[in-house]
Amino acid sequence: MPETRATVTCPACDRTETFEKLGDARAFIEDHRTETGHEATWELHRLSAGVERAGADAGVCGSPECTNADSPLYLD
Ligand SMILES: [Zn+2]
Repeated sequence: MPETRATVTCPACDRTETFEKLGDARAFIEDHRTETGHEATWELHRLSAGVERAGADAGVCGSPECTNADSPLYLD
C-alpha cells in the first residue's frame, strides 16, 4: 500500500483527495483554486506528526489532567 504523504480536503465541495507526492497535492490545490475559487487545505502527514510531537513535548494534550490552571492559556 503506497504511503500517503498529503491529504487535501475542500470543505466547499466536501471533497477529499490523498496524494503520494507533495507536488501533486500542491498542483491539485492550485488547479482547484483556479477552476472553482475554492481554498482547499492540505494536511501533510509527516508535518502533522511533528506538530503532534511538539504539542506533547509542551504538555498540551487537551486532557484535564494536563491542564495547568496557573497557565495564562487556561480558560475557565
Ligand atoms: Zn472545492
